Amino acid sequence: ATPTAIMVGTGLGARRGVLFKNAAALEASAGIQTVVMDKTGTLTKGEPEVTEVVTAPGADESEVLRLVAAVERESEHPLAEAVVRYAETRGIAAAGARRFENVPGHGATAVVDGHRIAVGNRRLALREGVDLGPLSPRRDELAATGRTVIIAAVDGRASALIAIADAPRETSAAAVSELHALGVRVVMLTGDNKATAERIARQLGIDTVIAEVLPGDKAAKIAELQQEGRKVAMVGDGVNDAPALAQADLGIAIGAGTDVAIETADVVLMRSDPLDVPTALRIGRGTLRKMR
Ligand code: ADP
Ligand code: MG
Repeated sequence: ATPTAIMVGTGLGARRGVLFKNAAALEASAGIQTVVMDKTGTLTKGEPEVTEVVTAPGADESEVLRLVAAVERESEHPLAEAVVRYAETRGIAAAGARRFENVPGHGATAVVDGHRIAVGNRRLALREGVDLGPLSPRRDELAATGRTVIIAAVDGRASALIAIADAPRETSAAAVSELHALGVRVVMLTGDNKATAERIARQLGIDTVIAEVLPGDKAAKIAELQQEGRKVAMVGDGVNDAPALAQADLGIAIGAGTDVAIETADVVLMRSDPLDVPTALRIGRGTLRKMR
């Protein structure tokens, strides 16, 4: 690698807010064949908002929200923050929670006013022995629209569904089509459920979806893709994504993401713009051409 080519490539990137941490990052960018993108906060804005609350027959919406907000107030998950905010705008004061437990990739549980509250995805409901009952078809309908659907259980009974939307970033679809034009395969990797992920992937033109991945399993999914013999880049923003960023041949962090993701990555996109992913690969390819 000629130092001049590296300097030119790094400078070109810097001007566009694409920070290559070292020469190896620039070189790795040139050979990428598969780009794996985290969904929440990478392809989407990471600004989840509650759009619907559906209560089970006999359940009181305000009361369920009061109990659920008490649990979610103790959680740092972005979905939890959306639920708390929604309850606040409805003028619902959250109760106090005891024995809070965060269940990574599932949700959270706690005891509120003597009731055991579980709030999270279907996997959590299953673990808690919660049957969705009449809420089941509504859950599927909401998920099919691309919403993340949270199940709120009170004392083991499904009491409400909370649907949460997180809009795609404006340039996500364009980034996917530019990557395709570069001959790169694009994969979505997410902890969210399959129906929700597939709907958003379809909107963005992504063909491969790996969904319902537990936080600790994201890196292993990257390794599986690498075993297919392709050079893999991972793009992410969350604490969850850090091991996958490290495992990938090239880790790319969204600038607006968490410190851990930014520290672990080889490239940082200062503008948090997915279109800068194809830009990074093009700069890498251009640099390598000059080195030959
Ligand atoms: P992602 O990879 O999309 O950031 P996570 O692994 O953090 O997702 O969570 C996966 C799923 O677990 C979420 O889509 C949600 O359904 C559920 N979940 C996790 N934490 C919470 C929480 N505090 N409240 C409600 N649901 C949660
Ligand atoms: Mg994310």
